[in-house]
Amino acid sequence: MEELLSISNLIEALKKLPGVGRKSAERMAYQILQMDTTKRDFLIDALQKAKNDIDTCPTCGSFRENHICPLCNDETRDSSVLIVVSSFKDVLVIEKLNSYHGFYHILNGNLSPSKGIGLRDINLESLIARVKEGDFKEIILATDPTLDGETTALYIAKMLYSYPITISRLAYGLPMGGQLEYADELTLTKSLEGRKFIKKEI
Ligand SMILES: [Zn+2]
Repeated sequence: MEELLSISNLIEALKKLPGVGRKSAERMAYQILQMDTTKRDFLIDALQKAKNDIDTCPTCGSFRENHICPLCNDETRDSSVLIVVSSFKDVLVIEKLNSYHGFYHILNGNLSPSKGIGLRDINLESLIARVKEGDFKEIILATDPTLDGETTALYIAKMLYSYPITISRLAYGLPMGGQLEYADELTLTKSLEGRKFIKKEI
């Protein structure tokens, strides 16, 4: 028997999720089909609502709901410091430490010549605008401790060098080649505290 078209589509859609292969997608699809109506509607409504209400904040690159960004609109944050991270997951990790209280800038990727990811593919333009217009005194470069993350940090440091701000990079401590989100909290806290200054503005 051939797979029904709508089921094939559902499986194809689920396969787009990271780490989900054909087998898992199939299993999930049939589980969804066998859910009772209330549960299935809840899932569909949640997806629909996320699609309608969530978009990317044009300032920091994070997610915002109904055009309100919880990071940019948080007035309790220290407006003198901005931390630049590769992905949104890093924000969650750093927030959990409870030792950083400044603002965020999420690049949504790293520069990677080998993967064809260039200047226009990551959230760089609004970073320059923020540095120009904001009153940040320090920019902490917390991109991934990978070759691409390093390349990105160096590029940003060069790009911002002429502005009267301190530029620092997380001290590693962190395992090279890894992703920030997998670092344990103690290591990450230490690397934040022990950050290296690329350029210090007095
Ligand atoms: Zn924002």
